[in-house]
Amino acid sequence: MLSTGESFLLGLHKHAVCFHNSAALAIVNLDLFSSAEEGKPDFASALKLATQQAAQLRLNLHRYAHAYYTLDAPEVPDSEYDRLFRQLQAIESQYPELLSTDSPTQRVGGSVLPEFSTVRHQVPMLSIRTETDTEATGAVAFDARIRKELGLSVDDGEVAYVAELKFDGLAMSLRYESGILVQAATRGDGEYGEDVTHNIRTIGQIPLQLSANAISLPAVLEVRGEVYMRREDFNQLNQRQLKKIAEGAKGEKTFVNPRNAAAGAVRQLDSNIAAQRPLSFFAYGLGEVSGWPDGLPPFQHHFDLLQTLKAWGFPVAMQTQCVKGASGLIAFHSEIAAQRDALPFDIDGVVYKVNELSLQEKLGFVSREPRWAVAHKYPAQEELTTVLAIDVQVGRTGKLTPVAKLAPVFVGGVTVTNATLHNEDEARRKDVRVGDTVIVRRAGDVIPEVVSVVFENRQHEAQMFTMPHICPVCASPALRDEDESDYRCSGGLFCGAQRKQAFLHFAQRRAVEVDGLGEKLIDQLVDAGVINTLPDLYKLGLTSLVQLDRMADKSALNILKALEASKQTTLPRFIYGLGIRHVGEATAKELARHFGTLDALMHASLDELLQVADVGPIVAQSLLTFFSQAHHQEIVAQLRACGVTWEEGPPAERLPQPLSGQTVVLTGTLPNLSRDAAKAMLEEAGAKVAGSVSQKTSYVVAGSEAGSKLEKALALGIPVLDEAGLLALIKGDSNGGS
Ligand code: NAD
Repeated sequence: MLSTGESFLLGLHKHAVCFHNSAALAIVNLDLFSSAEEGKPDFASALKLATQQAAQLRLNLHRYAHAYYTLDAPEVPDSEYDRLFRQLQAIESQYPELLSTDSPTQRVGGSVLPEFSTVRHQVPMLSIRTETDTEATGAVAFDARIRKELGLSVDDGEVAYVAELKFDGLAMSLRYESGILVQAATRGDGEYGEDVTHNIRTIGQIPLQLSANAISLPAVLEVRGEVYMRREDFNQLNQRQLKKIAEGAKGEKTFVNPRNAAAGAVRQLDSNIAAQRPLSFFAYGLGEVSGWPDGLPPFQHHFDLLQTLKAWGFPVAMQTQCVKGASGLIAFHSEIAAQRDALPFDIDGVVYKVNELSLQEKLGFVSREPRWAVAHKYPAQEELTTVLAIDVQVGRTGKLTPVAKLAPVFVGGVTVTNATLHNEDEARRKDVRVGDTVIVRRAGDVIPEVVSVVFENRQHEAQMFTMPHICPVCASPALRDEDESDYRCSGGLFCGAQRKQAFLHFAQRRAVEVDGLGEKLIDQLVDAGVINTLPDLYKLGLTSLVQLDRMADKSALNILKALEASKQTTLPRFIYGLGIRHVGEATAKELARHFGTLDALMHASLDELLQVADVGPIVAQSLLTFFSQAHHQEIVAQLRACGVTWEEGPPAERLPQPLSGQTVVLTGTLPNLSRDAAKAMLEEAGAKVAGSVSQKTSYVVAGSEAGSKLEKALALGIPVLDEAGLLALIKGDSNGGS
């Protein structure tokens, strides 16, 4: 088998063409085939080799096409398939005697699964020639070809084209008789498709009955278009699948990409399952049509045909444009390239079609594709590469992320060497191992990710990935909470990776508050090695501060003053400022109230911690882990030695909590209370303060310039309070004073 990255030689008269995984075609000298006596190329040998190579390529292409079209489970990225396809085309054009009717270059994609009834397409469903040159020159080449085929000279005007998106879904033929949907069929092998009417009926965007108000309908109308899945629907579907897998459901899987998910949904035997997979549709052409009321179609141009489809109730992409000549095609290609990542669905290129239907007819077809259309692709967003190693990175918040180190590969317009594996479950679910050939995807600004492993290429015994249970940066234990997918380093105040985050958290207004100590300053101080752990803050002097970028004496003095002022804090602020996982402000307050002193909290057992209101097993375990680490104890002791202090007292009774179990949303500006003050008061009274309004919201407190949250509250009939109402509610008036 021809494996990725392997080069091979193809006899080509005096030269051979050398193909390589990602390299462009290169002509190499063909001494290999020269006969010793005559010094001339040995064509028989070259032909023999080409025959073998063509056979091997056909075998691979058939196999990949079967996985892609029939099983909806592609084994390799499209870019790899296209590369092999082009290699075969090149051989067949050099050696026409090798052409066979069953070659993938001569046939349209898939086959019919035996589970479905077969539909014969009266008008074949063809493929589209692909312009592989992804630059503007690709459009120029198509225009030149059309002009040549039509025999146009430079004096003839520009050809009019319709430029459309090339949707990445699967082709569908919808048959309407007297305006009623009677059949929906896949493309299959172009001549025979599968009857999937039961599933297509579940797609809301496909009309079951056509509205003939505007333009009268023919007796038989086949509409051709693409069934696809929007990216957002795809992500939500995969989230639901992941949940099912986590809950132990058998036979469930996630989908590799929206195209694959859409194809899988359409080719479901059970239409209940298909109905749960959100599909969409765009119309772009016609199949068999007969019985026009006036004997003739009411359009002569492809663009008008699309407008007619729209009038009958079919979705037609709004990006579709009428353009003229190569310059119009180029402009469309680059305009759509700029929008590509923001589109709500995947496209892999654009399609150009000659607008005038009479010219389309004149141009006709070649084997599997019309001459009047071309697909002009964009650079691939998925490529093949090899996993060199799997590293674990620690983020600012202590999250451990496995990252695949890759052999450099050009994908989505950049060279990628790292791809996230997200977390341990994801890495194991995809079963990514060192040495594997993988499909890597990079679309837009999204972090590159490993889509799947090409298992047939695995020839080694690499171990399955397991997450280390100690932090690779600071060697503190890395823990994974129940119901969480991430491991986190527990060395919050000590871990080098989390240092900046720890300073930022400690210095924020709601914690110990060091006025003026923001992200930029912390970055500089940490990067210069001036501060490593929290106590270093209180050892800062004027000299080290004024050496920093853009730090005048006055600003430095202000920072020192703010640091001095921060030393006098409160116990809840200090506890919160330590950045212990799961310990937010409200929990910090509860802990301070319950224990009265920091020492009591630091020495509390699991059972004692569980006595605290709102502290469950996860929070209790997090506190125990944090305070049991010697370096955390050391940091707390040093902070105290530096003069950080707070009032301590005996444990206090819990205040009455009139709003316990209630959820409140704040919106707009209140006349007297700041957002923070209102939040603190509500939390003190036991309420949960949430950021968005839902059925579960108990009250919405609205000030001036309240926006959509207020509208939503009114729409859902949730009680809305003003500031006076809020104060009354906190006092215990359940009507909020109104
Ligand atoms: P194609 O996708 O290149 O072009 C024809 C199809 O384009 C039509 O059938 C239609 O479904 C679609 N299309 C989207 N927008 C359209 C529009 N506006 N107007 C008309 N048609 C539109 O054709 P193909 O022959 O099915 O297959 C080749 C593609 O499939 C290649 O991109 C190839 O990479 C991919 N493929 C991949 C694998 C794999 O293993 N990854 C295997 C086989 C094929």
